[in-house]
Amino acid sequence: MKRNRTMWLTCAVDGADHAVSDAAFLAAQGGDGRFEAMCRATVWASSLSAPPASRCETCASAAGEPVDASPDRRGGGLWSRLVPRASA
Ligand SMILES: [Zn+2]
Repeated sequence: MKRNRTMWLTCAVDGADHAVSDAAFLAAQGGDGRFEAMCRATVWASSLSAPPASRCETCASAAGEPVDASPDRRGGGLWSRLVPRASA
């Protein structure tokens, strides 16, 4: 099964994580810091220390990864999983 590796780069412009294929990543080497994301957006690579961002949904589906449609509820979901149900 052929499976291209995918890198997730945080775009300095829109702050979202975009998927960049191996080929696109290699093609951008020696360039000016731009990468073509799977959603056709131009990603300007930001600092590697940038905080985790929400993923671009178009890139996620293009990369075959599940889309986290509700990043804002991540904490709540984890919390509710950690706290046992009082009514059980
Ligand atoms: Zn994207």
